Amino acid sequence: MRCMETKSPIQQIDCNLWIKREDLIPLSFGGNKARKAELFIEDFDKGDYDCIVTYGSSSSNHCRVVANIASSRNIKCIIISPEEERKTTYNSILINMFGAEVRYVPLSMVHTFIEKTLVGLKDEGYKPYFIQGGGHGRLGTQAYVNCYDEIKSFEKEHSIFFDYIFFASGTGTTQAGLVAGQIINKDFDRNIIGISIARKNPRGKDIVVDSIKEYLGNDNLADLIQEKTIFIDSYINDGYGKESEEINHTIEEVMNKYCIPLDQTYTGKAFYGMECYLIENNIQNKNVLFIHTGGTPLFFDYLNTRNK
Ligand SMILES: *Cc1c(COP(=O)(O)O)cnc(C)c1O
Repeated sequence: MRCMETKSPIQQIDCNLWIKREDLIPLSFGGNKARKAELFIEDFDKGDYDCIVTYGSSSSNHCRVVANIASSRNIKCIIISPEEERKTTYNSILINMFGAEVRYVPLSMVHTFIEKTLVGLKDEGYKPYFIQGGGHGRLGTQAYVNCYDEIKSFEKEHSIFFDYIFFASGTGTTQAGLVAGQIINKDFDRNIIGISIARKNPRGKDIVVDSIKEYLGNDNLADLIQEKTIFIDSYINDGYGKESEEINHTIEEVMNKYCIPLDQTYTGKAFYGMECYLIENNIQNKNVLFIHTGGTPLFFDYLNTRNK
């Protein structure tokens, strides 16, 4: 692991690096959860619903975006959250400020509690709209098929082709959308590489593959989907949200030199993983696109840890 020998892998990289700033999507600090939420709220509007239920931890970007959309439209919002990960973060403070009702339950009971909550709300006369944690599901995938189309338009406009696309992969919905877009467009000489922020293979990859299959609904594509889903679990470190010196260094370097905030859980980890991957695989003179998937409030959580 040559990458680990130096604190500044970015200086060893010999590629053209581009960053797609999903963090600048103009809705509640942006990010991939904002892009997904736009489709969920469209769907909410189409149906006969009057409240939203979703799931996520205290540091969830997804819950912050959903709670903010709900507050802006005066929609009741209930968030089911695992007791074990209960802590105060900028996202949890924001979620509170948006007036969402957070119900904490032990992780093992989440599934049944969600069912119970939905039934309870219906009994009270509400018409709840449920969004899976992280905006997982067909609409979340659709959001990143749309993003893939945006990338294609950008390439056309600027006469460029991205040989590699890197990003943080969590529930895998972002990756599923991008790979589905690649398959729809038959862009097979491009590598789309999800850097896992928590899940190990084979499970991590399997979930992405299943999402793509569900989205494309074509059984003949199974082998192609397997081949095109590149889910790298080598840079997880100690697990979800766990910090490391390398990631902290990456966050500070990218902010100091390029004026772009990253975070410890997602983008900092993925950026560092991308650097290592490029170096370890000796990838040179390629056009590389990093998708900045958002999470700006987590950058400020990082600053708090730094001040202690
Ligand atoms: C949720 C999240 C991810 C992971 O996206 P998935 O679609 O769940 O894989 C990556 N980056 C940020 C900042 C996120 O909030």
